[in-house]
Amino acid sequence: MNRIIDPPSVAIVGAGLSGLACARTLQDAGVHVQLFDKSRGVGGRLATRRTDQGSFDHGAQYFTARDARFRETVAQWVEQGLAAPWAPSLVAIDMAGAGPVRSTVGDGTVRHVGLPAMNRIGRALAEGLAVRTDFTVTAARRGPGTGGLMRWTLAGTDGKAGEAVVDGSFDWLVTAMPSPQAAALLGDAADLQAQARAMPMVPCWAVLASFDAPLDTGFDAAFVNGSALTWIARNNAKPGRDRQPECWVLHAARDWSEAELEAPAEDVCARMLEEFRQVTGCDVAPASARAHRWRYSGPGARTDLACLFDAGSQAGACGDWLAGSRVEGAWLSGLELAGRILASCR
Ligand SMILES: Cc1cc2nc3c(=O)[nH]c(=O)nc-3n(C[C@H](O)[C@H](O)[C@H](O)COP(=O)(O)OP(=O)(O)OC[C@H]3O[C@@H](n4cnc5c(N)ncnc54)[C@H](O)[C@@H]3O)c2cc1C
Repeated sequence: MNRIIDPPSVAIVGAGLSGLACARTLQDAGVHVQLFDKSRGVGGRLATRRTDQGSFDHGAQYFTARDARFRETVAQWVEQGLAAPWAPSLVAIDMAGAGPVRSTVGDGTVRHVGLPAMNRIGRALAEGLAVRTDFTVTAARRGPGTGGLMRWTLAGTDGKAGEAVVDGSFDWLVTAMPSPQAAALLGDAADLQAQARAMPMVPCWAVLASFDAPLDTGFDAAFVNGSALTWIARNNAKPGRDRQPECWVLHAARDWSEAELEAPAEDVCARMLEEFRQVTGCDVAPASARAHRWRYSGPGARTDLACLFDAGSQAGACGDWLAGSRVEGAWLSGLELAGRILASCR
């Protein structure tokens, strides 16, 4: 890749897959990149929760690759031992009638997962990048800096130190996060803010349940229809996971999650487990169970834009709400935005 002669500095808020893809591409071209993330780790919704009762990929369950660029990247991850194909025994379960009706899913889709957990991908991509974690960016302002040049400055909350202003300023601002969170930071890039505001995101309740013994479900993962649940999967059936304990991830349907968005987590957990019992027919109490609310699990509408970019305010946005959603869309969106920024610097 051609390196830039007078490299700009770029602040990227969000170290999920889109932010990491953008950062890697920019840094490889010689751009100075600083990432910020409010979480303790990187990877965003490509997430894994480790508990005393086992490990759960509670966000993205697997990823598919259709675009040639992402297919090549996934092949590299497989070669590097960061990902592996996952071919679960997969069924569809219809709950709309009197009882569960099962059918086999043989859709020919190639599914991949991170090894030994989903969050491995983000960690690997973040190696060699400057990432400030545990830092919530609360404001991004554009104004004249040294020599009168317009610069971006950030303020936020440091998980350890409290209120903080970022030392130094940046030529470019990139938001790499769900659209409502991006809109909150893009006030000084009004066009981008309006576009981010127009994109809704939908929630998803997840339950992470462990059991003392393997459940006799007859399948490892299921798409569920006509139910409060939409997806259930035996996490320990994925490659590279500990075989024990028996860990299941349940995802609630979009409508149900929207309706129960503010319900107490314990109630949600109990109701999703009861639905799980009915869907699987396994009447076994979990050894442990907890609910996790993803307020912004995925986009609620579609756009043809791959990223948002404004050369005037030197700002951009990437994320899965652009470029076709999901893990692949997030990665492609980050890549596209990096390309736009590099093109404007040459
Ligand atoms: C329940 C669930 C199931 C899913 N299943 C699948 C699946 O099976 N297959 C698939 O391909 N995709 C799936 N997805 C979607 C996939 O996880 C996402 O599309 C992708 O990970 C999004 O990446 P991103 O970089 O756009 O955003 P994120 O991963 O959300 O990254 C955004 C980052 O920004 C950070 N952030 C936000 N606001 C701030 C702030 N103010 N300051 C600092 N940091 C901030 C967040 O902490 C986060 O790390 C699923 C998602 C969920 C939640």
